[in-house]
Amino acid sequence: MTSKDRLALYQDPSVQLLLSKFVRGEIVELVPSFDLNQTVRYPEVEEIVEGDSGAAKQLVEKLWDVGIFKRKFHEKILVCPSCLSVNVSNDYVCPNCNSIDIERKTLLEHTACGNIDSVDNFLVEGGLLCPKCNKELLEAGVDYQKLGAWFQCSQCGKRSDMPSPIHRCRNCGRIFTIRDTGFVNIYAYRLGSEAEEEFKRSYLIMKPIGVVLEDFQFKVEMPGQIAGRSGTLHRFDAVATKGSSEVLVLDLIASEKQIDEVPVASMYAKIFDVTPTQSILVAIPGLTEKAKRLAGLYRISTIEAENSQQAADQIKDKFGWAGLSGNEESLGDLQL
Ligand SMILES: [Zn+2]
Ligand SMILES: [Zn+2]
Ligand SMILES: [Zn+2]
Repeated sequence: MTSKDRLALYQDPSVQLLLSKFVRGEIVELVPSFDLNQTVRYPEVEEIVEGDSGAAKQLVEKLWDVGIFKRKFHEKILVCPSCLSVNVSNDYVCPNCNSIDIERKTLLEHTACGNIDSVDNFLVEGGLLCPKCNKELLEAGVDYQKLGAWFQCSQCGKRSDMPSPIHRCRNCGRIFTIRDTGFVNIYAYRLGSEAEEEFKRSYLIMKPIGVVLEDFQFKVEMPGQIAGRSGTLHRFDAVATKGSSEVLVLDLIASEKQIDEVPVASMYAKIFDVTPTQSILVAIPGLTEKAKRLAGLYRISTIEAENSQQAADQIKDKFGWAGLSGNEESLGDLQL
């Protein structure tokens, strides 16, 4: 799956809600819970999709498919090969006649007289009595020993050491053995660290800026794509449109140090083709002098801020005073 699929998913409000919980540490891992009717459930995700357990599972798988989630094997669940129900019993049957009507019998040995018999024959009200010598058996391990157990079929009467294990589907009634059993792997999910960074970059950082643009009646896509005159699609961190004539493009670059002219030049390459009405480059924490001069020359408005909230505030101020036309400040820097 491509990053385009992931970026599209970051636009989905349910995905934003879910991933924000991971980013804030409210969810660390989606631990599956077993459900007799639905195989598996992810309760934290169900909360986000209005309690729809099917939609929750689909969302989790989609996020794994595109590489946003990482998964870890959690459990293997046995399912009916006919109807895939997990409501399956584990039974033991007589190896001779396949009857489930078997009884476990324990064999006792009376230490004093050496009598060996089924425990049933020792049982009297309130205790154990040897049927051969009539002595009372008091202490296990001293008066008597348990010699083991066997299973006796109440239907055909045959004894066996080990009855045969079978499975029975409580949903459709099919009886099957391990040879036919279906297995479903169940996974726990976490947000991948690369996807987390990508999500923060493409959504969380941009969010305050998007809010401001929307306040100014723009229709905002983050990230957004526009076709240039050449026909090439160009991607910006935000594309904001108002009516059919106003197109604002915005890119955001964040770095540890002052940002040089490279992102300015690459933004220019895109806007040269797209010709938007306004281009804004947000630089966190700021731009070098050379980069600022180049941006001025290219008529790219620059915003320098400590974080995206500050940048959003500056954009708000800028529009509040200058409306949309404002390239004045950058024009002042034209001399390169
Ligand atoms: Zn039998
Ligand atoms: Zn005895
Ligand atoms: Zn079944």
